[in-house]
Amino acid sequence: MKRVEIGIFGRMNAGKSTLMNLLTQQETSIVDPTPGTTADHKITLFELHGIGPCKIFDTPGIDEISTLGEKKKKKVIQTLKECDLVILTIPSYTDNLDAEKELISLAKQYKKATVIINNLFSNKVIEKDLQELNTENVIQYNLTDKSTREKLLTFIQKHIPQKKEQPLLPFVRPHHSYLLIIPMDEETPEKRLLRPQSMAIEEITRNWAYATTYRLDLAKARKGDIEEMRRFQYFVRQIPFLDVVITDSQAMDIVSKWLDPNIRLTTFSIMMIHHATQKLSLFHDGVKKIKEIPEDGKILICEACNHSRIQEDIGTVQIPKIIKRLKTSIQIEHSFGREFEDKDLAQYHLIIHCGGCMISAQKLNARINELEDYEIPITNYGIFLSWVQGEEVLERVLQPWKE
Ligand code: SF4
Repeated sequence: MKRVEIGIFGRMNAGKSTLMNLLTQQETSIVDPTPGTTADHKITLFELHGIGPCKIFDTPGIDEISTLGEKKKKKVIQTLKECDLVILTIPSYTDNLDAEKELISLAKQYKKATVIINNLFSNKVIEKDLQELNTENVIQYNLTDKSTREKLLTFIQKHIPQKKEQPLLPFVRPHHSYLLIIPMDEETPEKRLLRPQSMAIEEITRNWAYATTYRLDLAKARKGDIEEMRRFQYFVRQIPFLDVVITDSQAMDIVSKWLDPNIRLTTFSIMMIHHATQKLSLFHDGVKKIKEIPEDGKILICEACNHSRIQEDIGTVQIPKIIKRLKTSIQIEHSFGREFEDKDLAQYHLIIHCGGCMISAQKLNARINELEDYEIPITNYGIFLSWVQGEEVLERVLQPWKE
C-alpha cells in the first residue's frame, strides 16, 4: 500500500517519542527522561484523519556520542532520505542547536519538506538562532498537552508535499488486452502472485481493460521445445485487442523472439522502476555504459530484498552468466537487502538494480538518488536483459513508456 512516510527527528530527549505517542494515541514508543531511550527506530503504520495511510518513524537522537550512537545516526540519516515529511522536534532545555542545524541541513540537501515543532520552546536566544535556520514551518507546541492534537495534525497535514499520483501502466487503454507472462519456477512463492503481477492486474482491470496471464515453461523454451513455442504463439493469437505484453524480465530471451514484432512488449521490472522513479532515461543511459567498462572493472548487482535464491536465480546466476559472456575478467559483486550493505559504492563501474518490488517507492527513490550522487552508471534488470537481446529489443521495451 502506498503510504505517506513521516519521520520524527531531533536530539536525545527532544520529545520525539512523546510526539509519536501523541500522533498514534497509544504507547508506541517508551518515553523516559533517560537520554538514548529510543535505541532503534520505531515504525507505526496507521491512518491519520485527513492524511490517509501513513508510516511514521520515531528515530533515535542524532547527538549520541558513542560508537553505537554513530551507527544509530547513520540509520537516522538513511530514514531521513526516505521520508516525505521531516518533523524536527526541538526541546526547550538547550540553547545549543548544532544537532538541529545538522538535521535541517540534511533535510535541505535531500530536498525534504520540513516542519519544526518547538517542544515548550521559549528561550529568546534560541529563537534568534532559529530564525537563522531559515524555515517558516515552525510551531510552538506542548507535546504533553493532548488536547491540541487536532491542531498539530492540521499543521502536519498542511506541510505534507502533494505528489501527483503516476499511473502504474500509463499506456493501458479501456477494452484492450494485456498479457502478463509469468514463468513460475522453484523460487515462485505458493498461493500468491508476485507484487508487480498483482499490481498490474489490478491497474489493468480498474481501467476497464483485460488482463490475461500466461505461464511460460522457461526450461522447455530454452531447450528449443517446438511444442512450447506453438502453445505460446497459438495462445497469443486468441487474445482480442492485444495491446502490450508484460513479461518477467528473465523470459526476455524467449518472449522477444517468439512474440509477433508488431505487438508491444515490456517487463515488470521496468514497470516498477518507472513507477517509482520516473527516470527510465537514467537506466537507459546506464546500460549503454557497459561497453566502456574496463575488462577488469567491477559491477554491483543490487537486490532490495533477501528472498531465498535457488537454482537459476536471476541476480546470482542468470545475470552474472551473461555478464561473464560479455567480459570474462569482470568482477561481479552483490548487495542484498534494504540497504547497500557496507560497500564503497564509488568503486563500481555499473550498478544493475532489481525492480525493487519489496520496498516502498520512497525507499527505492532514496537508493537510486544515492547512486546518482556517486555518479555511477545505473541500470535495471529489465533494461539490461532487453539490451542483451539487442538494441532493437531495448527500444521495443521502452517504447510503451514514451507515449
Ligand atoms: S525486491 Fe528486487 S529482488 Fe526482491 S523480489 Fe522484488 S525485484 Fe526481486
